[in-house]
Amino acid sequence: MTNAVMPTYARADLAFERGNGVYLFTQDGRRFLDFASGVAVSSLGHAHSHLTAALHAQIDKVLHTSNLYRISGQERLAQRLVDASFASTAFFCNSGAEAVEAGLKLVRRYHQKNGRPGRYRVVTASNSFHGRTMHTISASKNEKHLDGFLPAVDHFDQVPFGNMNALRAAITDQTAAIIVEPVQGESGIHPADADYLRALRSAADEFGILLMYDEVQTGIGRTGKLFAYEWSGAAPDVMALAKGLGGGFPIGACLANERVSAVMAPGTHGSTFGGNPLACAAANAVLDIVMDEKFLAHVREMGTLLMARLNKIVTAYPGVLKEVRGLGLMIGVECNKPVNTDIVRKLEDKGMLTVVAGNNVIRFVPPLIVEPSHIEEACGIFEGVCADLARA
Ligand SMILES: *Cc1c(COP(=O)(O)O)cnc(C)c1O
Repeated sequence: MTNAVMPTYARADLAFERGNGVYLFTQDGRRFLDFASGVAVSSLGHAHSHLTAALHAQIDKVLHTSNLYRISGQERLAQRLVDASFASTAFFCNSGAEAVEAGLKLVRRYHQKNGRPGRYRVVTASNSFHGRTMHTISASKNEKHLDGFLPAVDHFDQVPFGNMNALRAAITDQTAAIIVEPVQGESGIHPADADYLRALRSAADEFGILLMYDEVQTGIGRTGKLFAYEWSGAAPDVMALAKGLGGGFPIGACLANERVSAVMAPGTHGSTFGGNPLACAAANAVLDIVMDEKFLAHVREMGTLLMARLNKIVTAYPGVLKEVRGLGLMIGVECNKPVNTDIVRKLEDKGMLTVVAGNNVIRFVPPLIVEPSHIEEACGIFEGVCADLARA
């Protein structure tokens, strides 16, 4: 079959028509247990009644107006994110890469407007992922992502993730900021030590530079806290959000503390669609659910349960699986051999969705509304596939 879609993805031959809770259904009526959440996006699962009602209500009023005018849903969303975090303002956009891009602009401008135009370089971590724009692929320095797109933007200095000595050595009088993911997602679910994040905070203060977190994947409840940085207590100056924020509706946000927000003014940055009424209706509905401490406790409980079940499976199949890592409902299982893609395909054949990540990892990122029965179902399927592989 010819396909007019640009071939940028190796797609599974599956097309989903509708969803309900943690399940997706194909046109031909097959049911799939969704432990992928469209890559950690569908935080409330599918067809969540509170989210769909909020969207229907907004659709009947107005979809889009423009940031040339006040948008009450956007003001409410910004206030809620600010009240729940280190930040004092929020900028809205439509994706994770754009949220990171906004942050990368902000950290430059912060120094330029404070008389330090020479501070424009950003220190990044090895195996990071920040998106697919020119800036964000340059930051991550993943050779596959840069292939054919060189030259990279030349103001990122990369150091090994988790290594404080290397990080301190990389900071010069040209450094503007450090950017890290509190849990690295795409490269295989690597949680940063809380001590590492606290040391990053101290180093940033010591050298007079900014700390930026990419919480595009970890934010909005995914790790069992509203923001993953809360686990360490080390707040950033700037933070990017996106994936789970709209529960499936595209929206990104870049949050900044007071001193960074102070350098922004009308005309300094913008987005036509960013934070439009429909997107903000979705995000506000997601926050209605996720900001509840009881809901976050549920995420932590389900994360602990899933992690424990997966650990048992890893112990039972040491020839296939190596280890489990994660935080909350952002969990990765590392395989002993490059069989992660094979396992993800076999899981699909058995009616379950997961996502591959770098370095032989299978990501388990179910909707945050997942219940113990779904975890049992998922682990039963996973165990069956591992047993087949161990026999082969
Ligand atoms: C997914 C992701 C991005 C990119 O988000 P897009 O919406 O695809 O642009 C950036 N950073 C992290 C940590 C991500 O997981």
